[in-house]
Amino acid sequence: MAASGKKDYYDILGVSRNASADEIKKAYRKLTRKYHPDVNQGDAEAGKKFKEINEAHDVLSDPKKKAQYDQFGFVGDAPPPGEGGGFGGFGGFGGMDGETLEDLFGGFFGGRGRGRGAPNSPRRGSDLEMRMAIDLETAYRGATKDVEVPREETCPTCSGSGAEPGSDVQSCQACGGSGRVEQVINTPFGQMRQTGACAKCGGTGKVITKRCAECGGAGRVRKTRKLEVKIPPGVDTGTSLRMGGAGEAGRNGGPSGDLFIVLNVKPDKRFERSGDDLHISVEISVPQAALGTTIHVQTFDGSENLDVPAGTQPGATLRVRGRGMPKLRGGGRGDMHIHVRVTVPKNLSDNAKRLMTELADELKVNVSKAGTKENKESKKENLFDWMKDKFS
Ligand SMILES: [Zn+2]
Ligand SMILES: [Zn+2]
Repeated sequence: MAASGKKDYYDILGVSRNASADEIKKAYRKLTRKYHPDVNQGDAEAGKKFKEINEAHDVLSDPKKKAQYDQFGFVGDAPPPGEGGGFGGFGGFGGMDGETLEDLFGGFFGGRGRGRGAPNSPRRGSDLEMRMAIDLETAYRGATKDVEVPREETCPTCSGSGAEPGSDVQSCQACGGSGRVEQVINTPFGQMRQTGACAKCGGTGKVITKRCAECGGAGRVRKTRKLEVKIPPGVDTGTSLRMGGAGEAGRNGGPSGDLFIVLNVKPDKRFERSGDDLHISVEISVPQAALGTTIHVQTFDGSENLDVPAGTQPGATLRVRGRGMPKLRGGGRGDMHIHVRVTVPKNLSDNAKRLMTELADELKVNVSKAGTKENKESKKENLFDWMKDKFS
């Protein structure tokens, strides 16, 4: 403690008089962890120390206050230690360098996490997510598509300040332009200082005399933008395309968020997809299945000849390598699977019937029907023919 009864802030933080801003910050962090009331439950001495540490940091982290302290040994009309109260004449405290205790202890004490800086510190814009339905052929070839994105952008008229161009923007009197105000609250550990957003300026540190006509002072406007989305070949349902910086605008000069386009690939009439493979079904006739043939198979790149070997069974699958979907990662293509359905001819001509019967004889398969059923059928047919003749 200095002889005048004022505190030696350098002593409190355990740093030398020519310590850099970084060293001061580091020492402060270390000490607040050690003396935080949450760690030293009910220890009044630690509570007092904690208060001193904050006080010392408040002054030494602010160049203006530090300069005055270095020159005069105190800041403003500081009261003797222990009496609390504010530092008048300097428009109050500038908070803790934009950091709250939650920031310092984020995660450590189950706080609300990091990144909750002062309201007027740069913040990244939100990410946006949009869904887009495409057909399978687009997924196969890839495409460039337009998408209309409604998003918040920085107001172009006021560049985000919220003030009408040319109008006066004043520093907030209540918080001295810092956007934060400090309150002294009484706790069982002694008095504690708490910083919060300034109510008068909403934490911006500025007071606008005339609001921007375009955004009404918000500094942000909602715009629908037409953007080009590049869809690479091989995408599938659930593929998420990231467009860096195409999300909502950041605040206070922070970067924009990203836009994610989540794809839904619609089912195709001809092809069924499984991963990188495509499946198609073809119909061939009994003689084709028995004797073998060459058929035309459809692909996205036109039709292709495919040899069907003799003796192909119903339900057999033939495969053509490299005729499936392009692989999104690693290049190459999946396969095309051809599912063979064998159709049995109906409404045979008399000659076809005769040949089929001969074939049955040759293959020694029984095609005769049990009992008199065949006779009944032929009688019915004859009756039908008779009626047709009679009434036509
Ligand atoms: Zn504006
Ligand atoms: Zn304010």
